[in-house]
Amino acid sequence: MTCLFHSAFVAMTLWGLRQRIVLGFLGAVLFHWIGNMPIFLMNWNVGNLGAGTWSIFVQCHLVLLLIASAALLLWLSQGVLTFYGRRACPGCGSHYDPPLLAINLGRSRYERCPHCQKWHWSNPAKA
Ligand SMILES: [Zn+2]
Repeated sequence: MTCLFHSAFVAMTLWGLRQRIVLGFLGAVLFHWIGNMPIFLMNWNVGNLGAGTWSIFVQCHLVLLLIASAALLLWLSQGVLTFYGRRACPGCGSHYDPPLLAINLGRSRYERCPHCQKWHWSNPAKA
């Protein structure tokens, strides 16, 4: 569960990497806080519910958070999370999704254009 939760937190932060890094990071921090808060509430025995009731609540909460994390990662893996955005080939001028294999240098990437099959330093395509 921990691996999936933290993967979702990192993905949330990276999701905002291109334009809204602070918002993505704050979303991850909020998501982490939501994950931990019931544990604090259980330790403080808020509402005087008792350890048994709080334990059941925390377990249900963790399962829901696990489902939410898996759903987020699945959604982001469906093309929503493109760290580098569409790329513009300086050779043939076509736009394409960035390939996995590349050398990254800031916003520039040395990668192979899928259209002209040549290697170039590419930049994000203008919309
Ligand atoms: Zn090209």
